[in-house]
Amino acid sequence: MNIPEADLKDDPASISGVPPGSNFIRNIVEEDNRTGKWKGRVETRFPPEPNGYLHIGHAKSICLNFGLAHDYNGICHLRFDDTNPEKEEQEYVDSIIDSVRWLGFDWGKHLHYASDYFDKLFEFAEYLINRGKAYVDSLTVEEIRSLRGTLTEAGTNSPYRERTVAENLDLFRRMKAGEFADGAHVLRVKIDMTSPNINLRDPVIYRIRRVYHHRTGDKWCIYPMYDYTHCISDALEKITHSLCTLEFEDHRPLYDWILDQLKDVVPCHPQQIEFARLNLAYAVMSKRKLIELVEGGFVSGWDDPRMNTLAGLRRRGYTPQSIRLFAERIGVSKADSWIDMGVLEDCLREDLNERAPRRIAVLEPLKVVIDNYPENSEEECVAPNHPQKPEWGKRSVALSKTIYIERSDFMETRSKGYFRLSPGAEVRLRYAYIVKCVNVVKNASDEITEIHCTYDPDTKSGTEGAEKRKVKGNIHWLSAKYAEKAEVRLYDRLFDHAHPDAGGRDYKTYLNPNSKKIIMAYVEPSLNQVQPEDRFQFERHGYFVADRENTEKGKPVFNRAVTMRDSWGKNA
Ligand code: ATP
Ligand code: MG
Repeated sequence: MNIPEADLKDDPASISGVPPGSNFIRNIVEEDNRTGKWKGRVETRFPPEPNGYLHIGHAKSICLNFGLAHDYNGICHLRFDDTNPEKEEQEYVDSIIDSVRWLGFDWGKHLHYASDYFDKLFEFAEYLINRGKAYVDSLTVEEIRSLRGTLTEAGTNSPYRERTVAENLDLFRRMKAGEFADGAHVLRVKIDMTSPNINLRDPVIYRIRRVYHHRTGDKWCIYPMYDYTHCISDALEKITHSLCTLEFEDHRPLYDWILDQLKDVVPCHPQQIEFARLNLAYAVMSKRKLIELVEGGFVSGWDDPRMNTLAGLRRRGYTPQSIRLFAERIGVSKADSWIDMGVLEDCLREDLNERAPRRIAVLEPLKVVIDNYPENSEEECVAPNHPQKPEWGKRSVALSKTIYIERSDFMETRSKGYFRLSPGAEVRLRYAYIVKCVNVVKNASDEITEIHCTYDPDTKSGTEGAEKRKVKGNIHWLSAKYAEKAEVRLYDRLFDHAHPDAGGRDYKTYLNPNSKKIIMAYVEPSLNQVQPEDRFQFERHGYFVADRENTEKGKPVFNRAVTMRDSWGKNA
C-alpha cells in the first residue's frame, strides 16, 4: 500500500483518516485469521470491466478491497475483467488506472487482465470436456433460452447434451480455429437443467464472436463468459476473499461448482462474499446510462463536474480523502439502502474545512462607495488563511474607497431577521470597519447601481475599538481597485429528482436545468496565480477548485465543489 503520507496523518491505521469500523466482511477475515484458513493471508481484487469510466459506486468497492488489504497487511490486485471486447476500449483501461491511483491506492505488480488467462481458460475448458463436465451445444441462443425453463418450471436437456467427449473436444477446437460462424455453437457446462437456481442450468461458458479485442487482437474468435472467467481468474491469482455486489449471490453456487471441478488444477478456492452496492440519490449509477449522458451531449464529457464518475468528482473539486471518508462512513453491509447526496457532500465539506485556505470572492458584485474614506488612500486589513489554524498565517487584503460587496448582502427594504446592509443600517466589513448605508443610487430602470456608506474609523477589526460597538451583520468585500475577475462555474446536482431512473423511467427527463451556471466574479488578486486543482473556501460561499482543464496562469477558472451548508431543497 502506498498512500501519500500527508493523507494518512490523522490515523495511519486507516485509509480514510478515521479508524476503520467493523463490518461483516472484517469479521469473516478476522475469523479466517483466527482459524488459519488462509494462513493469515488477505488477498483481494478490484475487477472492473473496462467498458466505461469508474463512478462513485466503484469507489465503494475500491475502498473496501484496497482498504481490507491495507488493514490486514495484504495485497489488492487491479484486474480488468475484459472478456467482452465489443464494449471495451483502451481509453477506459487508462481512465480506470488513473482513477484508482488518484484515490490513493497502489496495486504494486498486481495489475492483471482476464485476457491474460485466455489460454489457461481454454485449457480448463478442455479439462472439463474431458471429464464429461462440459459439452458443445449447437442450439441457437433463442432455443437455449426457451429450454432453460423459468423460476417455477425446470429446464429441459438440450438434444446435444450427450455428445461424446471426443466429439465435444473436436467441435470446441474447431470453434477456436474459426471453422464456424458466430452463434453456430457454444460451450456449456453440464450441471443440472432442473436446478431451482437458473444459473446452474448448464450455463454457457464460451461463445463464438469474431471481434477484435483491445489486448489480444484477432487471436481469438471464441470468448469466455464472465461467470466462468471470474472465479478462475480469482483462483489463479490466489485471491482469498472475492468481494462482489449482492446481485452475484445467486451466481455463487456456480462460482463454487466451477472451482470444485477444477480443484486439482487451480491453486486455491477463494471465498465469494457479497455486499450491498451503493445507491446514491440524485444520481444514476449504471455505466450504460453514464455513457448515454456523455454520448448524447447532456454533459460535457466523462469528467463533467456534474457527473458522479471519479473523473467528474475530481474535476468538481472532490478530494481522494473525502471519497475515502465517504466509503468508510457509508459502511458495508448486506442490506440495500439509498444514500443521500448530502452524505457525500458533507464528507467533502469536512475534508476541505481542514484542507482549504480561506479566500474572498464576490460572486454577484454590488459597488459600494465609502463616502468619508479618504480619496486615493488605502490600507491593509489582515485576514487569517484558516480561522482554526493560526500556523497557516495571515494575508492582507487592501481596503480602499470603492469596494464590491455581494448583491444579496444589501436589501433596500429590510425584512425581519435581515442583519446585513440596508438603508440606515450598520454592518461590519469583515476584517475591516463598521459601515452604515447612507444612500442608494439607481439607474433609469430602477435598478440599484451603487450604494454609499460611511465608515466609523474607530472600529477596525483587530483594534481595541473593534470591540466597542457590536453589529449583527458581518459581510465580505473586495477593493474595486485590486479585485481580479475570474470565471466561476456554479454547479449543482445533475438531476432534480432523487430517483431519476426509478421504475425504468427516462432519467433524462429529470436533468436539472440549473445544474450549471457560469458567472464572472471578483476574487482576491492572489488567486490569479493558482495552480489547477488548488482548492479554497470562498468565505460564506463554499468550497471551490481551480478547474484542472481550463485554469491558466493569470486566468483562473473556479468550479464550485460544494456550498457551505446543505441547502438543497430549502430554496436558499
Ligand atoms: P455497471 O452495471 O454500471 O456496468 P458493473 O457493476 O458492471 O457496473 P464493473 O466494472 O463490473 O461494473 O464493476 C467493478 C466492480 O465494482 C464490481 O466488483 C462491482 O461489484 C463493483 N461495483 C459496481 N457498481 C457498484 C456500486 N454501485 N456499489 C458498489 N460496488 C459496485
Ligand atoms: Mg459487472
